Amino acid sequence: MKTLLKKYFGFEEFRPLQEEIISNILAGRDTFVLMPTGGGKSLCYQLPALKFPGITIVISPLIALMKDQVDSLKANGVAAEFLNSSLSVGEIGKIKDEAQKGKVKILYIAPERMAMRDFEDFLIGLKPSLIAVDEAHCISEWGHDFRPDYRNLRRLKDIFPGVPIVALTATATEKVREDILSQLNFRNHKTFISSFNRENLFFRVVEKRNAFPKLLKLLENRKKDSVIIYCFSRKDTEKVAADLRAEGFSALAYHAGLDSAKRKKAQEAFIRDKANIIVATIAFGMGIDKPNVRLVVHYTFPKSLEGYYQEVGRAGRDGLPAECVMFYTYADARKHQYFLNDISDEKLRAQTEKKLQEVMDYADLEFCRRRHLLSYFGEKYEKENCGACDACLSDKKEKEMFDATIVAQKILSAIVRTGQRFGAGYIVDILKGKNIKAIRDRKHDKLSVFGIVSDFSADQLREITRSLVGMGLVEKASGEYPVLQLTPRGKKFLNDKEKLELPKPKEEEIFDDSFKVEDDFKYDGQLFEKLRSLRREIANNLNVPPFVVFSDVSLREMAYYFPSNETDFLRIAGVGELKLKNFGKKFLQEINRYAKEKNIAPKEFSSISEKKIKVKKEIGSVSGGTFRITREFLKKKISLAEIAKERHLTEGTIISHIEKIINSGEKLDIDYLKPEKEIFKEVKKAFEKCGTGALSPVYRQLNGKYDYDMIRLVRVFLEK
Ligand code: ADP
Ligand code: ZN
Repeated sequence: MKTLLKKYFGFEEFRPLQEEIISNILAGRDTFVLMPTGGGKSLCYQLPALKFPGITIVISPLIALMKDQVDSLKANGVAAEFLNSSLSVGEIGKIKDEAQKGKVKILYIAPERMAMRDFEDFLIGLKPSLIAVDEAHCISEWGHDFRPDYRNLRRLKDIFPGVPIVALTATATEKVREDILSQLNFRNHKTFISSFNRENLFFRVVEKRNAFPKLLKLLENRKKDSVIIYCFSRKDTEKVAADLRAEGFSALAYHAGLDSAKRKKAQEAFIRDKANIIVATIAFGMGIDKPNVRLVVHYTFPKSLEGYYQEVGRAGRDGLPAECVMFYTYADARKHQYFLNDISDEKLRAQTEKKLQEVMDYADLEFCRRRHLLSYFGEKYEKENCGACDACLSDKKEKEMFDATIVAQKILSAIVRTGQRFGAGYIVDILKGKNIKAIRDRKHDKLSVFGIVSDFSADQLREITRSLVGMGLVEKASGEYPVLQLTPRGKKFLNDKEKLELPKPKEEEIFDDSFKVEDDFKYDGQLFEKLRSLRREIANNLNVPPFVVFSDVSLREMAYYFPSNETDFLRIAGVGELKLKNFGKKFLQEINRYAKEKNIAPKEFSSISEKKIKVKKEIGSVSGGTFRITREFLKKKISLAEIAKERHLTEGTIISHIEKIINSGEKLDIDYLKPEKEIFKEVKKAFEKCGTGALSPVYRQLNGKYDYDMIRLVRVFLEK
């Protein structure tokens, strides 16, 4: 098996579970494979196909992808073909003929073919050795992507009684899984479930304020990378794509409203590395399948976590580091909500709303996003810190506290006054006095708590409400709707008029652009670019996507090891016999020429293990706009109060800017801000007692004599 793996696919090792799955299939047993996108499912049926004497039939709903898949196999020397509606009658006849003559090893077909009687006879006549059902969840009405054509597959076992079937999917709940097995009439089968952890993906959530500049920032270092941006509506995709083009990016919109020629053109341009960025609606994307997508952005947050995980699954299929960024604002929830109201089926609406809430919970997380996603899919993640999500990488500095007594009372009252029957979004709308129909209909605009909060924004109120849940004053009721209710502690707090301190909600969001997602594989970037151009040239001539020639993984290895002869070239991942024969010469020429010019010797081949993602965080990146403005004010020796007023921020925020700038090692002349001698001495003494790690012990030590701003300012001078 390993020999075949190298000969045809150019790989040295199997990925987890591949070998076991292949053995099971070769033993003639039905097999069910649940593996995340990019896990390497295709190989699980492609390799057995090479070993079996007869033909392997692959049923796939993704007609748009069949050609690329077949081209990839052909480039590896595997006799593969496909049959679907995109071919002419003549072409279909020719392929059928070749299959009947035993000249085809793997035949991809679309499910609707199975409904045709004569096609069925044709398949029976082929006497297949194996049948693979790709995207097997499409057979289940319980799944998110049911395809009526897949019903035809229920008869597979009757038509091919002795032939092993392998069903593969990247998404299936327990219920869907059972459904697949029963619909396909699996008996004596074996199920393989691999971990859904995608180690090469970095997850983060970004607040959607000043969204476009943030998007530009994210794209800044990705001018040559492939990026997918998901938007809410067709109009949004058009606008974002146009705005990006205006900024010099090659971005194309892609949505169901485009005619099929346009859609195809956009998709081709993306797949062939001619356009970097595709801006798509969430409904589309099944047709986007590209191994080297380095960034997936959800410009509007998705409708469900299942959908989200599948969409971000399109990032980094090649196993190289990739980034998944979700833009989040509570305001977008309302866009989704708007559509929710159109769902007349009560139960479906409740379910849809619950899914939406789950996405919002994910966005609100303060601990590991990876752990949360995996646990959502029923998998336990053991590590405390994944090292590749924003929550795990954020500075866990102690948060500043504030007196939340009043605002907490308002929130709790609003929950009580509305009968403890609503979620956080609705409560916040009431407190902010939103003029919306749902509130008016229930006459909640007549409540005394309606519009009672003006000193906090809606986002801040949500953050405070979250803290109240965290403090155990409020809980989310279990049930279909995430309804907020008071706990006994919450009731006591309200009745006894207790005091309450909570972490201060953010007033200004600082976009953290200090994450650098990469791995420690130090290949030669210049050579990589040269090889990339060569790849594109060859791919153009062959009229195939570049990844059919070589993957980025292969090019990176070439640009690292500098193979100088055919033997070494064959050791590069993804180089099998046919690719060596067809492309080896040209690539070796390019590598040798570059090596000679730069005087670089080939590197020793180490055992090629897969490289782990690394997310570097440059400490205290203070290049962003908000810091720059504060810095300008400071240069002019303007007082904190005035800067704060000018910038509509609090003094505390300005002080935190100063802190960050100074921590980054920058010299800043701020002596003019130094507190009075007496105060300084007193606070300094408190710090000496409590340490400079946290502010609240010092605050308490001083019995609240000085506020947090003053304490923080003194600390700036102490650490300077
Ligand atoms: P899936 O269908 O599960 O989404 P694919 O079959 O498309 O995943 O495989 C994802 C990527 O992993 C492909 O680029 C494939 O070439 C690569 N791959 C699969 N198996 C191996 C392996 N054993 N070693 C190295 N790369 C592999
Ligand atoms: Zn994490």
